[in-house]
Amino acid sequence: MQNGSSVLQNPIEYLKGVGPLKGDLLRKELSIHHFEDLLYHFPIRHIDRTKINSVREINPATDYVQLKGKIAFHEMLGQGRSKRLVAEFRDGTGAIELVWFQGAHWVAKLLEKGGTWLIYGKVSFFNGKAQMSHPEMESAETQEIAAKAYLEPIYPSTEKLKTKGLNGRQIGKLTLHLLQQLSPRDLAENIPDAICQHLQLMPRFQAYCYIHFPPDDAAYKQALRRLKFEELFIAQVRLNLIRVRRGRHSKGLLFDRVGDLFNIFYEKHLPFALTGAQKRVLREIRQDTAHGHQMNRLLQGDVGSGKTIVALLSMLMAADNGFQSCLMAPTEILAAQHFSGLSELLKDLPIELRLLTGSTKAKDRRAILAGLLDGTIHMVIGTHAVIEDKVVFKNLGLAIVDEQHRFGVAQRARLWKKSVIPPHILVMTATPIPRTLAMTAYGDLDYSVMDELPPGRQPVTTLHRTDIYRMKVMEFIRSEIDKGRQAYVIYPLIEESEKLSYEDLMQGYEQVKTYFPDHRYKISMVHGRQSPEEKATNMDRFVRGDTQIMVSTTVIEVGVNVPNASVMVIESAEKFGLSQLHQLRGRVGRGAEKSYCILLTGNKLSQDARERIGIMCATNDGFKIAEKDLELRGPGDIEGTRQSGALNLKLASLVEDAEILQVAKKLATALVESDEHLEDPAHAMLRGFLMQTMGKTAWSKIS
Ligand code: ADP
Ligand code: MG
Repeated sequence: MQNGSSVLQNPIEYLKGVGPLKGDLLRKELSIHHFEDLLYHFPIRHIDRTKINSVREINPATDYVQLKGKIAFHEMLGQGRSKRLVAEFRDGTGAIELVWFQGAHWVAKLLEKGGTWLIYGKVSFFNGKAQMSHPEMESAETQEIAAKAYLEPIYPSTEKLKTKGLNGRQIGKLTLHLLQQLSPRDLAENIPDAICQHLQLMPRFQAYCYIHFPPDDAAYKQALRRLKFEELFIAQVRLNLIRVRRGRHSKGLLFDRVGDLFNIFYEKHLPFALTGAQKRVLREIRQDTAHGHQMNRLLQGDVGSGKTIVALLSMLMAADNGFQSCLMAPTEILAAQHFSGLSELLKDLPIELRLLTGSTKAKDRRAILAGLLDGTIHMVIGTHAVIEDKVVFKNLGLAIVDEQHRFGVAQRARLWKKSVIPPHILVMTATPIPRTLAMTAYGDLDYSVMDELPPGRQPVTTLHRTDIYRMKVMEFIRSEIDKGRQAYVIYPLIEESEKLSYEDLMQGYEQVKTYFPDHRYKISMVHGRQSPEEKATNMDRFVRGDTQIMVSTTVIEVGVNVPNASVMVIESAEKFGLSQLHQLRGRVGRGAEKSYCILLTGNKLSQDARERIGIMCATNDGFKIAEKDLELRGPGDIEGTRQSGALNLKLASLVEDAEILQVAKKLATALVESDEHLEDPAHAMLRGFLMQTMGKTAWSKIS
């Protein structure tokens, strides 16, 4: 994080107490390569070394305790894998059992030493008796020499590191060596003085010392607050710099009129009245594109909120102003579906619309490329094929990316190269992310929300059933099909190459076939190993209603629209993440009929899976689900944010620290607005810090 000559850049093996062997382990096990990585390896908790509990005060609510006493006896129990060392520990107020499953022989030898011990660990109750497994142990005599009146840090460690003398406690010795070598110059202040004073923030160097070795709890809290603020503030300053630069420097195409195409379509061909949310977003897009600046807008709309029609109307705005536009989808199925839907809607308008995907035939492809180059084709719908270098537009004015989470940042960036003045960009995603997160992760995009569903939709009822009810579930599907509806049966297939899940799918398909014999029911199947044609054929048959059941992997996750489908069964639902389940469920409930989503799982569920399933059954609101997802998994795992790069948060949590985030955002915005090149001497340290941490190239783009 600091400049190259700083001690923080030293390889970790050069630190006192590390050496090549431990250095190697630290790199492999904890990704600690340099001194600075150890500095950012924060403690999970602190032990008050001055506080010693007594056995008597232990009760079922107790978690971690530190005890001082003697080992009454110890013995080896069990055979083979269940072999363990058990000892009785007494402190004069009572006794507690200690257990070791690993390293039993080594510990037994240690215990032979006798004497008084200081032990620390988590208490659990087993058959009504208090027990501690794998306690941290230290001879009380040595401990007393080392003991200072500080809170001792305990760090995340791994089994491997523990056997090599680097347990959660021992890592702290290294951190101590590191801090002793550092001076305030190595961790220079990066937040302007005025802000530090206004918020009474602890100085940066002191904060790093105290987050590891706080003199007391209050000092730890102050250090934590300072460093959390720093993370969020720096991230916000960066995003603001990017935003300001974009507004200032990126010229955009001017869409200054609403013309015939838009108006005629709106009045004569729009199949329904727009929702309030759809209208609002269209107004936002219109304003964005009417001022000669480039639009960069993220549209978050829950599944089924009607993003496609917003895309089409925006493309018509582009056409009215003489510009071409493109709409990109993450899969061929979805691109084909958009193409057929939009072709139908546009059939009476003088618009040339084409589909361009990886499986477009060479001859058609040539014709499309020629048409895009000479401008006779106005709109193109496709997959990644649209952004290949060979595709050259005459005057691309608007690029829309549907279901953004499958589209990487790099792919989006290629769009910019498609014309001298970059086209307006609209990114549409159906994976809602919480507002606080959006604000941080996508702070450089403008962002709209469509949180209103078209009228007349009935909420999908979601049920959880265990495997033993599969028969009943199939019966239920049958009854829906007999009413004229269609059903999805979904299998998890995370990686398309995963052999096991492929076999699961095939087995499932056979099973569904036995419930739904050929002479009465028709089944489609779609999975990642099929050719694009095979996928399209199977999909088409289901869309047209020729087949009643679609057995599929998650390739249908995004976008697919078959309003007559009223049931979705998700097999092994516990294997899916929340946002994926929500996406899948969005495939039903798209018509006027009451729809159902049935989550099938095994009998035994992890706490986490149980919680996910519970949330799915309780709500249909994508934003609520996103909040829960964030709580359960943390922001790093939320789709789409991982690649944003802005969220390099080690300490701050966007859920728990929303208040700090608000303050950081406000101050960062004000700072960048008042001094966008950070030329004020008061901002010199901040500027220096950003230049070092962002790398020269990124910085030069901003300044
Ligand atoms: P998503 O936002 O998930 O992409 P779609 O654009 O596929 O949603 O729209 C879902 C369904 O709702 C489609 O069948 C579409 O025709 C319909 N729809 C969209 N907007 C409206 C509206 N304002 N009134 C009624 N139906 C609508
Ligand atoms: Mg869609």
